[in-house]
Amino acid sequence: MSTNENQDAVVQRERQFLLQTYSRYPLVIARGKGVFLFDLDGKRYLDFVAGLGVNALGHAHPRIVKTIREQCARAIHLSNLYYNEYQGLLAEKLCQLSGLQRAFFSNSGTEAIEGSIKLARLAGHRAGGEAKSRLVALQGSYHGRTFGSMSLTGQDKYRKGFEPLLEEVTFVARNDAEALRAAVSDNTCAIVLEPIFGEGGIYECSMEFLQECRRLADQHRAALIFDEIQCGLGRTGTIFAFQTFGVTPDIVAIAKPIAAGLPLGAFLAKEEFASAIAVGQHGTTFGGGPLACRIALEYLAILDEERLLENVARVGAYLQQELKLLTERYAAAQEGRGRGLIQGLQLDLPARPIVEQALSEGVLFNSTQDTVVRFLPPFLLQEKHVDKGIRVLKKYLGKKRRKG
Ligand SMILES: *Cc1c(COP(=O)(O)O)cnc(C)c1O
Repeated sequence: MSTNENQDAVVQRERQFLLQTYSRYPLVIARGKGVFLFDLDGKRYLDFVAGLGVNALGHAHPRIVKTIREQCARAIHLSNLYYNEYQGLLAEKLCQLSGLQRAFFSNSGTEAIEGSIKLARLAGHRAGGEAKSRLVALQGSYHGRTFGSMSLTGQDKYRKGFEPLLEEVTFVARNDAEALRAAVSDNTCAIVLEPIFGEGGIYECSMEFLQECRRLADQHRAALIFDEIQCGLGRTGTIFAFQTFGVTPDIVAIAKPIAAGLPLGAFLAKEEFASAIAVGQHGTTFGGGPLACRIALEYLAILDEERLLENVARVGAYLQQELKLLTERYAAAQEGRGRGLIQGLQLDLPARPIVEQALSEGVLFNSTQDTVVRFLPPFLLQEKHVDKGIRVLKKYLGKKRRKG
């Protein structure tokens, strides 16, 4: 069979047998190496998507491959009935890095959010009785697809058709401190937010807003929960995004890159919240297994030993500057947003056709919120890769701005 027939067969089979929930790009990826992916033909693609922010170490990192091989031959899964060698080590490491005190491991981002709000409810009820159960979240946010996370997600398109959701959620606009003050009360058990909106279009919370969240959470004894599933674990140039913003949450949810592509999520909590939960009140079959935890330890070691955070900061600053130049030169490019290797380019036209055209040029971008090109590349990205991406974008951005 020709490769086209191979690709068509993959597409047709999925169309017949999969629940039709995804709008995929017309590309079957066979493998990857570093910042590149290869399709069935062996055609190469520069990867600015990193599996939606998961593949921070790129593809087939030799240390990850080697460690997975080793650990698979020892134990992949053991269950939480028993201790394994790596779950405690990973919890310790994450606590040291975050300054928080305890961890719980899940299998995904949305589960990390579910666990976080379950913990906040327990702590809330302990501090203020049954009525202390209300949640405050942000309009335009994204927290995942399960019912709790969906209830906190401030976008109708993710909620519609699934009601009733959790009804105790009040949404306020990002960076609207006054609306926040009006929404938070003694019945609030948690304020939940992404310091940088990911799926929502790469919008940052201001430091002042985050400080006001911190102040109100303290005043009302509510948990301040940061969803760093997309922006955390190095993407902003610090291990936790909250370290970039200088405001420490009570609970932080992480996932995407933590186990270099294996499914793993976690939330970390301060002791005063963590102590609200008792044996038997939360759990998971898969979460925190020896393979995923060992790989997460390897991920964190590689970040450190390969000095990848420095690379994120340097190449991120270069990308930021190049996106700014695009906004100055091309009429369709409105604004560059974000920092490090979580950035977005706001267009005044649909982004998906540009993403599809870039595909034929051998560059993978992702679009979000219809008009934003989102950049979540591997942390191994270099300036020359940015140059290539920008060159391709320029071809499809259309008219130049008139020189003023
Ligand atoms: C991806 C994401 C989630 C959900 O994670 P899943 O692993 O897909 O369940 C939640 N919050 C943010 C900010 C995300 O980017």
